[in-house]
Amino acid sequence: MKFSPKKSLGQNFLIDEKILNKIIEVGNIKSNDTIIEVGPGKGALTDRILKNNPKNITVIEKDERLVNFLSKKFGRSIKIINDDMMNISYENYIKKDLIIFGNLPYNISTQMLAKLVKVKGIDNFCKRLVLMFQKEVADRIIANKNTKNYGRLSILSNWRMQINKVIDIEPSSFTPMPRVKSTLLVLVPKKEFYEFKDPSNLEHITNIFFSQRRKMVKKPMKLLFKNYEIISKNLSIDLNLRPQNLDHSTYYKMCKVYETLIN
Ligand code: SAM
Repeated sequence: MKFSPKKSLGQNFLIDEKILNKIIEVGNIKSNDTIIEVGPGKGALTDRILKNNPKNITVIEKDERLVNFLSKKFGRSIKIINDDMMNISYENYIKKDLIIFGNLPYNISTQMLAKLVKVKGIDNFCKRLVLMFQKEVADRIIANKNTKNYGRLSILSNWRMQINKVIDIEPSSFTPMPRVKSTLLVLVPKKEFYEFKDPSNLEHITNIFFSQRRKMVKKPMKLLFKNYEIISKNLSIDLNLRPQNLDHSTYYKMCKVYETLIN
């Protein structure tokens, strides 16, 4: 197929057999599994997923040219949705034993991750998510406190997901070659996590803290809570620390308190 890749859709296609096999290995597909692949491209990974005989597979691809290509290539063996992966209500796919695969387009990878993390009840039906990110983004996802990469993305993703880094991937594994390295992560929805009325409250809190990451936490605490001194004491927060010095669970506990105070 003569095909000119669109940069705007992050079209860097995987051509490295070793990496494709690694993705399948960590995906650990069983015959009862339902698969969603977001951004299947030319179907290099789709092909291998199919060979592992899952119960069914649905792919979501925005580029109509690729949708036509995929439907010729795979016929009725896969279900193809021609849509934006950000528009899909993944809650509607609630079936037991779901695995989500995606070599995510760079420009929407963080929004897509935030969307998936917030899918209601994801721990009840999704076994794992096998996702590829730009390495710099993956570094932020897996970052721990007291590091420069720690922040909003790490706090949100670790709230619902147990995250394991699998491997860094060189630009030469793709065509066209991206300018940066990539990283493969496996995310397993946690069974136990802090329940929030609305997870966007956690995003609101971390936005306030990390928009001024060099300032002491006294400032954002004061902004968020009238009685910030008592709350800081209860949560054992030293107000002279910086946002990156507070661990993940302090932010989750803070969000719980915040939710009891707003309406
Ligand atoms: N999975 C393929 C592979 O590894 O070779 C392609 C990965 S490529 C990095 C990203 C894919 O996502 C492209 O096929 C692109 O057309 C598709 N895509 C980009 N933005 C999208 C969106 N918003 N919704 C659905 N698909 C999208």
